[in-house]
Amino acid sequence: MAGEPQADCLFCKIVAGAVPATVVRETETTLAFRDINPQAPTHVLVIPKAHHPSAAELAAQAPELAADVLREVGEVAAQEKADSYRLVFNTGAAAGQTVFHAHAHVLAGRGLEWPPG
Ligand code: C5P
Repeated sequence: MAGEPQADCLFCKIVAGAVPATVVRETETTLAFRDINPQAPTHVLVIPKAHHPSAAELAAQAPELAADVLREVGEVAAQEKADSYRLVFNTGAAAGQTVFHAHAHVLAGRGLEWPPG
C-alpha cells in the first residue's frame, strides 16, 4: 500500500534507525540528513518518512506530504545558511535515481553550472 515501509528500502531503514545517517532536521513527517557522498559543501537529502518511490508518485499519492518535503527544503537551506541552492529530484534510473524512495537533494556552497551533466 502507498506509504507503507518497504523492507528492502534503504531510506525506510534510515527512517527506522536501522541504518545510520547524519540527521540535520526531523519533523513528524520528514527527515533531512547529509548525503553520504556529498557533491557540494552542503548536500542534504530531504525525504518523506512514508515510502513513496519517486517525487511524482509522492505528489500524486500524498500531496500534503510533498508540500511538507518542500517546506523542509527551505528550512534546511536556511539552517545551512544557503542563500542559493539547487533542488534536485532525480526521477527514474536514466536520470540518476538510485534509491527508489522519494528524496530531494539540496545542494549548496559552491557554484553550480547549468545545464547539469
Ligand atoms: O538521486 P539518487 O537516488 O541517486 O540519490 C541517492 C543518494 O543517496 C545518493 O546521492 C547517495 O550518495 C545517497 N545515499 C546516502 N546514504 C546512504 C546511501 C545513499 O546518503 N546510506
